[in-house]
Amino acid sequence: MNAIQPITVGFIGLGNMGSGMTRNLQLAGFSLVVNDIRRESAVELLAGGARWADTPAEVAASSDVVITMLPTPRHVDAVLHGPRGILAGLADGGTWIDMSTSVPEVADRVRSENAARGLRILDAPVSGMSVGAASGMLQIFVGGDADDVARLRPVFEAMGDPERILHVGAAGAGYAVKLMINQLWFSHLVATAEVLSIGVKAGVDLEVLRQSLIASPANSNFVQNDVLSILDHGDYDEGFAIALACKDLGLSVDLARSVGVPAELSGLVEQIYRRAKAQYGDRAGEMMPVKLYEDLTGIPLRREPSPAAEHASSEVFA
Ligand code: NAD
Repeated sequence: MNAIQPITVGFIGLGNMGSGMTRNLQLAGFSLVVNDIRRESAVELLAGGARWADTPAEVAASSDVVITMLPTPRHVDAVLHGPRGILAGLADGGTWIDMSTSVPEVADRVRSENAARGLRILDAPVSGMSVGAASGMLQIFVGGDADDVARLRPVFEAMGDPERILHVGAAGAGYAVKLMINQLWFSHLVATAEVLSIGVKAGVDLEVLRQSLIASPANSNFVQNDVLSILDHGDYDEGFAIALACKDLGLSVDLARSVGVPAELSGLVEQIYRRAKAQYGDRAGEMMPVKLYEDLTGIPLRREPSPAAEHASSEVFA
């Protein structure tokens, strides 16, 4: 991508993630053409100079690169096809980057049905939650052609941490890496909720138990860091809805099926997530499966400063 030539980025999907990502593209100096089914989501961007497009086709026709950041593969598919879709507006040789957490099938179909058009297609899903999107410090996992990744690096750097923009392989590899990261993190969450609830119910102080885990071979980033949003603030992360977490788990199990690898544990974690979604609603935070255990035992997992916990901490960190 030539730094002297102004680049217009088309962006479809201005939700929890897309709103922060587009703001950072704008701050980095890219011209923006945007679309969402909720026009009100673009108010600030339009005030900052972005252009509104009524259809995904118009976004594609007016930009050098089109980015999608949508909830599910079904949503991505819906903005691609038909007379109002991206493919109707994208010039031959044009570039589409899907940054949604999705699966390769949607883009594979585009490639096979448009083989003669020379389209450049990358998958570039992200980690870092809405906070990372807002701060421009997302981790980005890019699947696709190395030349395209190099050409588009300034676009990625406007949204992500330059140190953590990773070219992880050929087309589809970005989706796979992202799904496996989420699968493992959700598994850590369920396992940790279960272990903490059993231990506390057995009479161990929560923080003593947590510090003992941290000092043991069973430590994890989840036990050490991520669980603290619940333990300290009762925050189950509504920035990432449990409906989307269930979607990711379903896609992950689908991926396992498509490559012929049994996924017993992943399937179980998916079902526990679905139970929490049924119980607390689609918009509940992604960490709500922890609350299933809290409700079951009647003991909220909250950290209370205690002499025993302080002793355990000083043992661990001395
Ligand atoms: P979101 O639901 O907040 O936003 C999605 C946006 O897409 C909404 O503004 C919606 O109106 C718009 N949209 C839906 N259908 C559309 C259509 N046909 N045309 C135009 N716009 C349409 O979702 P999000 O949290 O921003 O997540 C987006 C993607 O990023 C998902 O794939 C999610 O799994 C992934 N992701 C989310 C997070 C997070 O913390 N929220 C973190 C990493 C990855």
